[in-house]
Amino acid sequence: MNNLYDVNNIFAKILRSEVPCNKILENEHALAFSDINPQAPIHTLVIPKNSYINFYDFTKNASTKEHESFWKLVNEVIEHYKVEVEGFRIITNSGNTGNQDVPHFHIHLLAGKNLGKMIG
Ligand code: AMP
Repeated sequence: MNNLYDVNNIFAKILRSEVPCNKILENEHALAFSDINPQAPIHTLVIPKNSYINFYDFTKNASTKEHESFWKLVNEVIEHYKVEVEGFRIITNSGNTGNQDVPHFHIHLLAGKNLGKMIG
């Protein structure tokens, strides 16, 4: 684990079942659940089960199996909501510049309405 990882962040608590979540799907290495403050009709978060701070930490340090499981679950969430054709947006915020609030790597999958231009 990256020694800068905060074990008390809210997603770490969800992974330890200390805080509930609205689970959508999961596999061996990743979990998908609803965002508590949805910004679109569909707003799902996908997180790795192991402790990575952000996109850079995950892409640099996760195993091939973790990468495969993570992106497979993202793909399954897209299929779960049947938005393959109509579309969606995937966002990952990182660090201060990216306005990341929860320091456990996650992607936001947003869909269900026209999401507008990328940066408002
Ligand atoms: P970010 O700014 O990219 O770190 O996004 C963090 C996201 O986590 C926000 O969209 C929050 O609404 C969401 N969030 C925070 N706490 C919870 C929670 N307990 N369950 C689900 N989503 C949460």
